[in-house]
Amino acid sequence: MRSISLLFLCLLFLQCNTQRPAFKTTRPDRFVKFIKEKELKSNLYQLASDAMEGRETGEEGQKKAAKFLEKFYRQNNIAPALEEGYFQAVPGSYFEHKFKDTENVAAFIKGVEKPEEIVVISAHYDHLGAKNEQIYYGADDDASGTVAVMQTAKAFKKAAQRGFYPRRSVLFLHLTGEEKGLLGSRYYTENPIFPLEQTVANLNTDMVGRVDQAHHKSPNYVYLIGSNRLSTALDSLVQQQNKKYTALELDYTYNAEDDPNRFYYRSDHYNFAKHKIPVVFFFNGVHEDYHKPTDTPDKINYSLLKTRTELLFYSAWEVVNREDRLVVDVE
Ligand SMILES: [Zn+2]
Repeated sequence: MRSISLLFLCLLFLQCNTQRPAFKTTRPDRFVKFIKEKELKSNLYQLASDAMEGRETGEEGQKKAAKFLEKFYRQNNIAPALEEGYFQAVPGSYFEHKFKDTENVAAFIKGVEKPEEIVVISAHYDHLGAKNEQIYYGADDDASGTVAVMQTAKAFKKAAQRGFYPRRSVLFLHLTGEEKGLLGSRYYTENPIFPLEQTVANLNTDMVGRVDQAHHKSPNYVYLIGSNRLSTALDSLVQQQNKKYTALELDYTYNAEDDPNRFYYRSDHYNFAKHKIPVVFFFNGVHEDYHKPTDTPDKINYSLLKTRTELLFYSAWEVVNREDRLVVDVE
């Protein structure tokens, strides 16, 4: 009897252990190999294909894109963020029927030490649909950010599968209705899946696959917007990770308070910043195909998209796994 009860205790202990694995630190560059250029490319080609019809909010093409994302997370064993699944319903009625019922897509990796603290990694997956039988493919805007978030999720999951679970929880959020006025992120922040007070930061990617006019001669860059506006630590950790691993030129031109383009207010991170959640927006600037049917996947610079995705991953890794939660220290 004694040996049996000991065995039982051992099993119980093992089970508890598998339910609450411990947090261990490691170097993130061990997992960066899971961000593959080939996968970024094939996923982007699918999102920006004829079949997705320009992913207009609430329309058939966007539903296909949502299902495509769901399938990816399911295949990679990355859990849904909601009990009912990966889709957060965004009813058309909420926005005076500017569009049909639609959904944000949300996947989740639970933290093991501070599971209640949430880091949001986002990109919008809607675009402009089709007009006069011309499809607006939105390869850069924002299939590029969408695939960057997917591969980042995959790298975090591969780390967890090797025993390196995240300290905090990570929410991979694919937002709808951005082109209609940042509506999916507005809906999320008004109906958050996890409390906003416990939301540590939002890393947002919107257009990360192209090179703008200003950088044609030295394309190894990314614009950073918002990173120092609420938390100085967020800005410096992105800089540190970049210096250590990705060596991109970090261009702050559009971060200037008086920048006439006002990009800080023009993508989904702004809805998080409004709630005093530190944000960083990764962006390639505009180009001649911006919001035109000619924003196609053949024009994406995939090796650059990969490097920018790596910077997203390395930055997120630090926000998720650093000891102290980021603090808001800028007025
Ligand atoms: Zn966009």
